[in-house]
Amino acid sequence: MNMSDIFIIGGGINGTAIAADAASRGLSVTLCEAGDLGAGTSSASSKLIHGGLRYLELFEWRLVRKALIEREILMKRAPHLIQPLEFILPHEAHLRSAYLIRIGLFIYDHLAKRRYLPASKQIQLQKELHGFYSQGLLPNFDKGFSYYDCLTDDARLVILNALSAKENKAIILTRTQFISAIKENNVWKIQVKDLITETIHYYFSKVLINVAGPWVKEVNQLIISDTKFDIELVKGSHFVVPKLYEGDFAYILQNKDNRIVFAIPYQNQFTLIGTTDIIFKENLNNIKISEAEIIYLCDLINQYFKKSIKKSDIQWSYSGVRCLQGSDVKNPSKISRDYEFFLENDNNCILLTVIGGKLTTHRILAKDAINQLNDFFTHMKVSQTHMTFLPGGDIPNQDVAQFKQKFKKEFPWLAEAICERYVNYYGTRAYLVLNQAKSLQDLGIEFGAGLFQKEVEYLMQYEWAQTIEDILWRRTKLGLFFSEEEKIKLQEFINIYQKVNN
Ligand SMILES: Cc1cc2nc3c(=O)[nH]c(=O)nc-3n(C[C@H](O)[C@H](O)[C@H](O)COP(=O)(O)OP(=O)(O)OC[C@H]3O[C@@H](n4cnc5c(N)ncnc54)[C@H](O)[C@@H]3O)c2cc1C
Repeated sequence: MNMSDIFIIGGGINGTAIAADAASRGLSVTLCEAGDLGAGTSSASSKLIHGGLRYLELFEWRLVRKALIEREILMKRAPHLIQPLEFILPHEAHLRSAYLIRIGLFIYDHLAKRRYLPASKQIQLQKELHGFYSQGLLPNFDKGFSYYDCLTDDARLVILNALSAKENKAIILTRTQFISAIKENNVWKIQVKDLITETIHYYFSKVLINVAGPWVKEVNQLIISDTKFDIELVKGSHFVVPKLYEGDFAYILQNKDNRIVFAIPYQNQFTLIGTTDIIFKENLNNIKISEAEIIYLCDLINQYFKKSIKKSDIQWSYSGVRCLQGSDVKNPSKISRDYEFFLENDNNCILLTVIGGKLTTHRILAKDAINQLNDFFTHMKVSQTHMTFLPGGDIPNQDVAQFKQKFKKEFPWLAEAICERYVNYYGTRAYLVLNQAKSLQDLGIEFGAGLFQKEVEYLMQYEWAQTIEDILWRRTKLGLFFSEEEKIKLQEFINIYQKVNN
C-alpha cells in the first residue's frame, strides 16, 4: 500500500521545501505535482532572495526581518545558487525624500544580523567609480543609493529542495495531478492521475498538505474540508531585453504610482525587467503578459535609461500569480506577502493548508508548517535545515570563486563559460553532471549553447526533467540562446532517451 505520514499537493518552492523539511525529520513523505517541479509561480518570480525593502513602507517589520534572516541562512545553504547583488536606487526627490530612503536603508541594514553583505550607502551616480553606476542612465540622475540583496534561479532552487527531500527518501511524483481525497478509517485516501500514462493511482496518508499556490482554493474544493479562507490572486510579469547597461549591479526604479520595478543583469547578455502587480481573475492555466503590462514596463524603463526599449526588443517574457491572504483589496501592492496556515484535525486526519509565502521565506515556512504537526508526530526530530546545505551547496568555506578556479583547473578541456555555468547551477554536483568525463568527446552530442548530452542525461536521470521546456527554461535558461534547429535536435534525443529508459 502507498502509505506515508504526509502527502503534499504542489511541487513549487513551498511544497518541495516542506517535503525536504519533513523528510529530514524522519517522516515519510509523498509529493505530487501536476506539471513540472517549479512550473507554477516558483519559476516566474523576480528571482530575488531579499528582505523586501519596499515592505518597510507597509510597516511589515516582522516579515522583512524574517526574510533578511533567511537571506543569510540561504546564502550559506546554497552559495553557488544564491549570489550577492548590488542594487542602485536613483534618487527622485518628488517620489520619496532622501531622508526617508536613508532611514529605510538604515533599518534594512540593521533589522537582522548581516554577515555577508556590505551596508547601504548614499552615492553620487555621476562621480562614484567614474560614473560606473550612471552609464546606462539618462544624465538627469545625480544622487543615488546602493544596497545589497541576492539573486538566485528560482526554478533551480525548487529542484534543490526536491533533491534534498529525495535524499531523505521522499517520493516525488511529477506530472501527477491530485484529483481528490476522502477520509477513510482515520487516514486520507488520495486519488491522483498520472498525466503521462493517464492512469489513476491511490495513496494513503495521515496528513494532507495543500500547498498548491494560486490553485490552493481549487484544490481545497477537491477535498471534503471545513477550512474557510480568503485569498487574492495577484499577477506579476517580467521580460528580458538585450543588455541595457554594462556592470553587474541591478537598478531599483521608482514609479509615480508608488510601485518599484527592477532592472537586473541577466545571463550575461540581457537585462531582466519587472514586475507588475495586478489583481488576477482569469484562467490560471493561461497566465501571460498583457499589452498593458508591456507598455507599463517599457514606459518606466524609458524614463530612466538612455537606450529606449519597445515591445519588439523583448526576447522572452514570463508571468506568475501570487496567492496572497485577504479579499477585495484595492491596492494589490499593499497586501501582505507573509504566509498563513489553516489546520483542520478530524479524528486524527489532518489537513494543513498553506497560503502565501515568498521564495525567500520557503525554508522557514516549511519548518513552521511541519512544526504545526508537533503534537501529532511526537517522535519527529527538530528541524536542522538552518545548518545543512542544499544539494551541491557544500562548497568548501562557501568560497564559490575558489571552487570555480579548482573546477576549471581539473577540467581544462571544458570551456570556461561552461565551467562557470556548471558551478553556478550545480555546485559540487557539477562532478555528477560530468559523470567521469575525461574529454569533450566524453560529453556526447552538443545540442547548442554549450548543452551536451551528459548534462541532458543528468537532468533527466536526477532532476525530473522530461520535456524540452523543463531543460531549456527551468533546469537551465539556455532557451534564451537556442535556435529552432537546435531545439529539434534536442527533442529527438529526448524521444530516444525516453524510449530506451522507460
Ligand atoms: C511576479 C512575481 C515575482 C515574485 N518575486 C519574488 C522574489 O523576487 N522573491 C521572493 O522571495 N518571492 C517572490 N515572489 C513570490 C514567490 O514566487 C511565490 O511566493 C512562490 O513561488 C510561491 O510558491 P508556491 O510553492 O506556494 O506556489 P507555486 O510555485 O505556484 O506551486 C504550486 C504548485 O501546485 C501545483 N498544483 C496545482 N494544482 C495541483 C493539483 N491538482 N495537483 C498537483 N499539483 C497541483 C502547481 O502546478 C504548482 O506547481 C514573486 C511572485 C510573483 C508572482
